[in-house]
This record gives sequence, C-alpha cells and structure tokens, in this order.
Amino acid sequence: MGFDVPFLWFTQPLGATPSPWRHFKVDGVMVNAYELVGNSKILERIVDRGGIHKYIGFDGPIAMDSGGYRFLKKGMLDVDAEEILDIYEKCKPNYGVVLDFPISPGIDKSLIEKRMYITIMNTKKMVLNKKTSNPDLIPVIHGYDYDLIGKYIEGLSKLGDFKIYGIGSLVPLVYTIKGSGSIGGIYRAVEIVQFVKSIFPERIIHVFGVGSIITMHLMFFAGADSIDSSSWRSKASYGAIQLPGVGDRYITRKRRHKKYPTLKRRERRILDSCECPACREFGLEGLRKSFKLRALHNAWIYQREIETDPTIFLETIWPIMRSIIGITP
Ligand SMILES: [Zn+2]
Repeated sequence: MGFDVPFLWFTQPLGATPSPWRHFKVDGVMVNAYELVGNSKILERIVDRGGIHKYIGFDGPIAMDSGGYRFLKKGMLDVDAEEILDIYEKCKPNYGVVLDFPISPGIDKSLIEKRMYITIMNTKKMVLNKKTSNPDLIPVIHGYDYDLIGKYIEGLSKLGDFKIYGIGSLVPLVYTIKGSGSIGGIYRAVEIVQFVKSIFPERIIHVFGVGSIITMHLMFFAGADSIDSSSWRSKASYGAIQLPGVGDRYITRKRRHKKYPTLKRRERRILDSCECPACREFGLEGLRKSFKLRALHNAWIYQREIETDPTIFLETIWPIMRSIIGITP
C-alpha cells in the first residue's frame, strides 16, 4: 500500500482508546509488536480476525514497529528478529520495522558500531526469512555522524532496495538546539535527515519519534517524508490540547502542569471554531473533563497540520526555523 507524503502515523497501543480513525480520516496508524511478544492471546485474536486491519478497524496503511528500544535490557536486545518477523507475518500490517538497536549520545563509538552490526544482521535475517508479501520491511538507520550512517547504508544496500528508510535515535537530539559535547542537538538531527534524503531522494524517509507539531514541520523541511506521533495521546494525558499554529495549552484544572501555558481569550476563540467531533459535540468543557475527547481533538489538529498547504509554513514557521537552523527547504 503506497501513500502520499508528507505522511503521519498515529501511534496507538493495541486495544487503547480513542481510535481517531473511527471518527475521521487519518493518514496511518502505527502499532507495536512489543505488546504481542509472549502474548499469544491477543496475537491469536488478531489472526482470527484476519489481521491487524480488521482488529483495530482501520483499512488504511498500518505500520508495526518492532519496539527495539523497549526490548533493550542491560544494553542487549533480548528478543529474536525471527520472532518479530513471525508476528508481522501473522498480523499482516502494510509495513514492519526491522528489529533495530537504538543508540544515544552518551555511548561510545565501539558500542555504537556493535549495535549497528546487530541491527544490520537482524535486517538481513528478516529479509531472508520473510515468506509473505506483507509487510514491506522498513530498515532503520542510527548514527550521529556521516561515517557511521555511510556504513549503515552500505550494509543495507547489500540486502536490497527498500520503499521506506527509517531514521532512529534522533529523539535525544531534538530537545536542544546545539546539543552537548561532540553530538549536536536539533542542528545535527536536521543534518542527518538531509544527508539520508540526499542518498535516497526517490525513497520515503521516515523519522521515528519526533512527532510534536514543531519537530514534525522541522523534519519535513529537512527532507523527511513521514513521521510518527504519540504526543496526540501523551499531551492529552497531561491535560493539554494542541491548537493550530499556537502550541500546547493546558486546559484541565485539577492537574496543573507547569509545562503548558493556559488558554488565552484569543485562543479560546480558535478552539470554539474547531470542527473536530469532540469540540463540535462537547466543546471546551467536554475537553476539560475527558482524556478521550482531548486525544481526539489533538489527533484532529495533527491530521489538519499535515494536510495544511505547506506554503503557510513557508511564510510563518519556516522563517523562524531558518533563522535558528540556517537551512533552506
Ligand atoms: Zn477540537
């Protein structure tokens, strides 16, 4: 199943609510195989229903992540790539992410290379053992310098040509502008995305885990085609909602959270004109009381951001980013 870019995957735990796609059209959904390892009950149920699409009630593109970072115990992956592949072939998502071994700025180069070796070996195992056409595999590249990324790409090129290439381990970089020590912050993340896109200009580049509104636009302008977001849910659980072009606003009274400013009068008007199913039916008071309604509202705003004419960002957000980052789209 192909798709138009830019593209947004809504990350959703299996069995969690709300399911935005039951209320309005969304680009795609990303679920995680992590929840199915050692959980034969749910896996059987998915197989009985004929696959993950029927199970979650969504007929658009579904990607399944391997949850590599969640399997990390004492610095080692404690799950087998073939087990993840077996889950993919039973669940039949459109895309399956290889079992990858993420890195972080604090670890030394020899360990980073070792993790690269394991990730590429896992990719090879999954490519060679795949018996069905579903899913297409998404390899993932992890590296903070061109040398390492070059090695990754060389390793992957021996395994075939992929429709989508993923870039992982960028989340720790996007919290700061310049980063610390030898590893840059957002600057470096942007450079890495630009570099990978320049090598695969005709392929879809997916950046994992950077799906807040601002980082999402930043990654698209750096050359990413596809991103995933769980923050439509996490912000809602903090009692925050997203407003178009404004950022996060804290709206619940009980759980005051320092991170999010409260709603101003002008913003209240923006919210009053929101056409999402949650706002239309229940308004601000509904959103204040209900996680589900806030999550639905946030998902709606995220999906609208993706569909908005990108020239709006060229005129608004982009000049700010350009002044900070110093790159042009
Ligand atoms: Zn709304």
